[in-house]
This record gives sequence, C-alpha cells and structure tokens, in this order.
Amino acid sequence: GGEDGAKKTKRKKKKYAQLLIPPLTSFTQLRSSAHGYALSRRVYENILAQGYTAPTEVQMGALPVLMKKQQTSGMLTSLSWVDLLTCAPTGSGKTLAYVVPLLDWILSTRKESGGERGVRAVVLAPTKELAGQIVNEVKKLSVGTGVRVSLMRKGMAGTSVKGEEAGISVKSDILVSTPLLLLHAIEAEEKEDGKKGEFANVRRLVLDEADVLLDELFRDQTLGIWRALKESAEKDGGLRTSLWSATISSGTEEIARNMMLPSSALAAPITTL
Ligand code: ADP
Ligand code: MG
Repeated sequence: GGEDGAKKTKRKKKKYAQLLIPPLTSFTQLRSSAHGYALSRRVYENILAQGYTAPTEVQMGALPVLMKKQQTSGMLTSLSWVDLLTCAPTGSGKTLAYVVPLLDWILSTRKESGGERGVRAVVLAPTKELAGQIVNEVKKLSVGTGVRVSLMRKGMAGTSVKGEEAGISVKSDILVSTPLLLLHAIEAEEKEDGKKGEFANVRRLVLDEADVLLDELFRDQTLGIWRALKESAEKDGGLRTSLWSATISSGTEEIARNMMLPSSALAAPITTL
C-alpha cells in the first residue's frame, strides 16, 4: 500500500545520512588545492578539450563526493572511501562523473602501486556498445596520462577462444566489460590455484546502468563479480563501488544498498538532480 511504501522510504532515508559536501561549480576548482582537489593538469585539459565549459548537475554533485581531498597534517588525503549510488537522467553526463574520479585516483596512487601494473578499476556495462562508448570516453579523458583502458574480450585473462591459448593478460589500469565475459574470466582464474589473479589489484568497481545490471537478467552475474572482487580487495582497503543509473526500482535499490558500505555515514544518498 501507498502508506507503507512512504513509511519505508522515510525509514530508509533516515538510515542513510546525507553527505554534505559543497558542489563543484566549475571544472577549474578541480585544479585548486584550496578547494580540496588535486586533479592532474592533463586530465583537466582533456575535459576542456571536449568543449565542456561547466560541470553538469550530476557532475557538480558526484565529483566532490568521489574526488574531494581533505587536509590532514599538511597532506591531501582523499575522501573517496565512500560508495555512491547516483540516480540522474540519461544524457546528464554520468560517464565523466565516474571516469574523472577514476583517473584522479589512478594517477594519484600510481607511485604507491609501484610495479603493480594490473587492472585497478573495473567498469561494468550491460551492453557491448555501451562498454565501447565508455572505453572511448576514458581514452579521450586520459590522453597523455599513460592510463591504459581496455574493452574485455573473449580470450582475455582466464577465458579462451576456440583453438587458441587461454589468458592474454589484461595490460590495463581500467577494464570495461559486460558482466558475463568478466565473470567467466574470474571463474576460470579461480580454478587455477596458487596463481595471483589478474583482478587481484582491483579496488574500484563502477556499475553503469546499475538498474539493468541488478535486474533479473544480469543480477547473479553482477553480484558474482562484485563478491569476487570484494573478497580479493578485503585485506587491502577493500573495494569501493559506485552505481550509476537513470532510474532505480525499489527492489534494485535494496540490492544496491546492500552492496554499499554498511556504515550509514559512509553511504551517500541517491542524488536526484
Ligand atoms: P549519461 O550517461 O548520464 O546518459 P553521458 O555521460 O553519456 O550521459 O553524457 C551525455 C552527453 O553529455 C555526452 O555527449 C557527453 O559528451 C556530454 N557531456 C558530459 N559532460 C558534459 C559537460 N560538462 N558539458 C557539456 N556536455 C557534457
Ligand atoms: Mg550513461
């Protein structure tokens, strides 16, 4: 009934505290340590080279949550330990809102990651077409940074193509994939004991079109990937997950909530912009 639903929503809202971070009002702020940002000049220039003069509403809201740094004993540390569920209409610029924070994180932690050149971030998308578009967006925004992005294909990692050797390793920082291909690769790896997996260094997971990825058709695949990545990230800071969608049904929202960090203060609310 309507009343029940309203009550439930109210209770949920209470459970998840609002993160009060000032919105990003111009891309220039991303270059300003006074504003709490330290984006690489190259990525900033790549944003401007797209002809984007100002952040869209969803970018204004999400970029601070995922990128804003804080001063702790003279050092800028990232606030990006939060998981995020963002609901914003189609065409509102969600791709940039997760790609730029990924690039910022990869570039700023590159030294710490040292020789580790394995996959560090995974973006899941429900279709091959969308996955391809995301790869193109990452390429445009990462020109000149050395960050590498790949589209998951059959024959990569643990998967094999008929008549060929399995396991061309993924030599990329960011891997974009549809769910089943990646799940097969992860499952194939799990069968080889002792070997350090290709996905052992993944610390960021992005679900683009999260409503579709968590709907019946893809749900088990998506959650299977999430569980496997979460498990291997556990000993080392954990996996940060962000979910992006134009719409989210209440059933899907429940699953999404369960994927995010349990502590209410860390989970950002759905930003409906
Ligand atoms: P969504 O995933 O929310 O549907 P997209 O990320 O595909 O939206 O972006 C929609 C369009 O808006 C793309 O053509 C993209 O290049 C453009 N776009 C993204 N950010 C900006 C911006 N800050 N200013 C102008 N256009 C933008
Ligand atoms: Mg999109």
